[in-house]
This record gives sequence, structure tokens and C-alpha cells, in this order.
Amino acid sequence: MKQRPLRRSTCEGCSRTFYSRSPLSRFCNSTCQSRTWKQNNKATQAELEQLFIAQEQAKQQEQELLND
Ligand SMILES: [Zn+2]
Repeated sequence: MKQRPLRRSTCEGCSRTFYSRSPLSRFCNSTCQSRTWKQNNKATQAELEQLFIAQEQAKQQEQELLND
């Protein structure tokens, strides 16, 4: 079976760079994933805005990598 290509992403929980073959993974591990979900559930709009900006920046970085 053919393997998916590796992707480099930025963890939405701890902002570290991580590598994954899943195009859907947004976190370096399940700890970051559950912690971020809990935070999101009680985050203020200002905090959510910061998360959104970080998310858009990560997307932009991915695009730049793809354009190489
Ligand atoms: Zn993480």
C-alpha cells in the first residue's frame, strides 16, 4: 500500500512543529488536542482571535512549503 506523504505542521496546542502523514492532524499529540479543546470551550473572543491568527499563519506556512 502506498504511504501518504509526510506533512510538516504546527501544533495548535503548543505551537511546535510536528510531522504527520495524516492531512487532518492539527496537534503533535493527544494531550495537546484535548487541552486545546478544553481551552476553546471556555476561551474569550479575544483568545479565540489569537488562536485564529495562529491557525491562519500555520496555513500560510504550509502554502509556502507547497509552493517551493
Ligand atoms: Zn503540541
